[in-house]
Amino acid sequence: MKVLVVGAGKTGMETARFLVGRGASVSLSEGASEEKLGEKAAELKSLGVELETGGHTAGTFLAADLIIPSPGVPFDIPPLREAAKRGAEIMSEVELASRFLDKPVIAVTGSNGKTTTSTLIADILERGGKHVFLGANIGTPLVSIVGKEDEYDVLVLELSSFQLQGVKTFRPNVAVVLNVSPNHLDHHSSFEEYAESKMKIFANQTPGDWCIYKADDEVIARYVNRMKSKRLPFGGPGNAVSYDGTDVVFGGETYDLTGMKLAGYHNVENVMAAIAATRVMGASPEVIERAVLGFDPLPHRNELLGEIRGARFYNDSKSTSPGATERALESLPAPIILIAGGKDKGVSYEPLRGSVREKVKLLVLFGESRFRMREDLGGDAETVLADSLEDAVGKALGSLAPGDTVLFSPACSSFDMFGSYEERGRRYKDIVRNI
Ligand code: ADP
Repeated sequence: MKVLVVGAGKTGMETARFLVGRGASVSLSEGASEEKLGEKAAELKSLGVELETGGHTAGTFLAADLIIPSPGVPFDIPPLREAAKRGAEIMSEVELASRFLDKPVIAVTGSNGKTTTSTLIADILERGGKHVFLGANIGTPLVSIVGKEDEYDVLVLELSSFQLQGVKTFRPNVAVVLNVSPNHLDHHSSFEEYAESKMKIFANQTPGDWCIYKADDEVIARYVNRMKSKRLPFGGPGNAVSYDGTDVVFGGETYDLTGMKLAGYHNVENVMAAIAATRVMGASPEVIERAVLGFDPLPHRNELLGEIRGARFYNDSKSTSPGATERALESLPAPIILIAGGKDKGVSYEPLRGSVREKVKLLVLFGESRFRMREDLGGDAETVLADSLEDAVGKALGSLAPGDTVLFSPACSSFDMFGSYEERGRRYKDIVRNI
């Protein structure tokens, strides 16, 4: 078969290697120049992959029987549309890989909370003695384990809307849909397309499977009647999985969350989903409860670093949108010194006004977005501007009192000053540790 892989990122490279190994005639089309690809270009050539760089041409796409776009490649780019019209099959790497795998699958999607929930699910199952593959959108692409799947008892997959967009027969035994809110609209042609992609997670499920989803999510609600699997909505009292302020209740069993290290109601939602997902896969309630209470927040997500002069310092560098910063402000105690700012994505910061007014005693703004953020939020709390992250922490220290919370939650992406949110978070941690 003639197969075209679009994009030479981690997933594209693994897909090309896999396809070559299976005897396909493989080509790869990449927008970046061959120079930029460096060693990857050399490897692809040595594998016999026909390489197109510096753009995508219609001819390359029309020559293919099957096309695998990498996550993030919009499905509506003209050569892809044209090839589809002429009968080429288009699928994501997750779809391709899943056709070669026969292991129980728990798949997790949502606009927010995917990494936390899928990692917690894997953690619970591992504590119960299972060999777990955790991957797809985080870590290792799914196609990497084809042929090695016997090392695993269960596959826990974090899936983005992109990975689900190109899914056709993929059928997880347990599907988790955490929430759906506007996101990635720059890559999807509409919110409807984005929501539809996420809903594909349960499209092929059968009555023996499970679908776990947020009960009061307006977008998910519109699709619930399409579910053919057993439904487990999570939320407040009255739902299949519920929370009463202390305990999660599921199937007549209670899970006490007292002492849990994950903060905020959004994490209670993640925990409800994880409890249901692992319980239906056979984990014991004792193991589940112990794992939930022992689970440490992931780095850069509302992560407690320690105390300086009686104030607690948190790193929430993963926050690249006002919505995430709002969650962080909701979950932490006032008075809060909020350090925010970064690359401006053109969104309004006004949704933060209420929580800033209510909880923030000092707003320290840095990065490209600092002036716009001051315009939107400066009226709601005392606001100062900083030249750098170091300067921002210095300004926070200048107003520090015992009992304060110092929260670094940028609400913006990192690319004005850093290579990634991880690099930004590490820098912040270094600065705080040095103090
Ligand atoms: P993802 O992998 O979907 O980006 P993460 O688990 O990495 O999600 O969490 C990223 C941020 O999203 C968190 O720091 C928090 O601000 C927010 N978040 C996490 N879970 C939820 C949830 N269930 N609902 C809303 N926001 C959430």
